[in-house]
Amino acid sequence: MSWRDSYDAKLLDAVDRVDKKIAPKLAEMDDVILENQAKVLRAFQDHNVAESDLNGSTGYGHYDEGRDKLEAIYADVLGGEDALVRPQLISGTHAIGVALLGLVRPGDEIVYITGEPYDTLQEVLGITGDGIGSPKEYGIGVDWVDLLPNGDADLDAIKKRVTPKTTVVAIQRSRGYATRDSFTVAKIAEMIKAVREVAPDTWIFVDNAYGELSETTEPLDVGADLMAGSLFKNAGGGMAKTGGYIVGRKDLVERVSYRFTVPGLGGAEGATYGALGDMFQGFFIAAQTTGNAIKGAIFEAALLEELGLDVAPKWDAPRTDLIQTVNFGNADDMVKFAKAIQHNSPVDSFVTPIPETMAGYEDPVIMADGSFVQGATIEFSADGPLRAPYTLYLQGGLTYAHVKLAIIGAAADTFFSDDK
Ligand SMILES: *Cc1c(COP(=O)(O)O)cnc(C)c1O
Repeated sequence: MSWRDSYDAKLLDAVDRVDKKIAPKLAEMDDVILENQAKVLRAFQDHNVAESDLNGSTGYGHYDEGRDKLEAIYADVLGGEDALVRPQLISGTHAIGVALLGLVRPGDEIVYITGEPYDTLQEVLGITGDGIGSPKEYGIGVDWVDLLPNGDADLDAIKKRVTPKTTVVAIQRSRGYATRDSFTVAKIAEMIKAVREVAPDTWIFVDNAYGELSETTEPLDVGADLMAGSLFKNAGGGMAKTGGYIVGRKDLVERVSYRFTVPGLGGAEGATYGALGDMFQGFFIAAQTTGNAIKGAIFEAALLEELGLDVAPKWDAPRTDLIQTVNFGNADDMVKFAKAIQHNSPVDSFVTPIPETMAGYEDPVIMADGSFVQGATIEFSADGPLRAPYTLYLQGGLTYAHVKLAIIGAAADTFFSDDK
């Protein structure tokens, strides 16, 4: 029996049309994968990765050669001089928070130039939450410049708001849960140029979550000073079980390393026992995994648009991250679709997610996540709040074939089943 036997002929026709249409776009993505894979392979060779480097250290983690090599590889591939790549960075939020808070001192200020920061960073920065330990307690200013109505960065407003006294300018590459487009590296380059006109020495930080290896250049290549992200998104390749990274200018990586651990120690210690082999292997396959996820997003965009849904980005738009959004227009279809994504997952496929109210969210949220690594969004997952226009955020996918099968399965359950 073929997988095709389970599906309605009309749906299969749509799939076949979409396959033809997106083939050139998928081929473009294959070129990106090839370029990035070459960069990664070269870095592994340049740093003489040996089998003995994969084992990790214990205790203090002194003289962890494998860890040092992995950090040098991250720096080479992502365009920095040095990096921290650690299992003790517990998530992207932690890595980004350590980087931002490690840069500043009392009297300094952090200005986001891409609108309000990502939800979890708002608490880190004391914009929401009880503010304990937040920058405000330390006399550090936090502000942001709103985006233009079309979702672009407001370069004029940025040039007015940012001054040479601004310590850190922060840029968020991916849209997160906002409705704007994600910022391509070319757009980030324009923002950096605008900032440099008014504040040539201000440190420019990029929240690079979801963006790694989705293009052939990274924000550090176009003038950013420091960036950070999670290892259970792109950079971990689906293999890393935990961790985060911070990469960029050597002096700045050192500066934030004292916030990551404590003054004096910085990045010199920190055991990698049990984690290092997966971190190496994950980064080795990260170009492929990220590319697969983006190819999956292109398929999602094309098929769901073919079925009459409103999607962003469109299938043929430039991509700079993994996120695909789909507006269902009603709660019923959105929930059905998310349930079907869960039922088409490799892990916990027997679970049926239900919308639930969560701390920090006004509306109930539905979340489909059948991943090997808890909450890993490099693996195929879907979530979103139940409110108009009923937008589901689809992201990740370890293999293109899985994303394709899961989307076809979800489309069948939602739009081609008898109880529809
Ligand atoms: C996911 C994400 C983060 C935070 O990463 P976590 O690993 O979930 O803590 C930060 N910024 C953006 C834009 C993200 O998409």
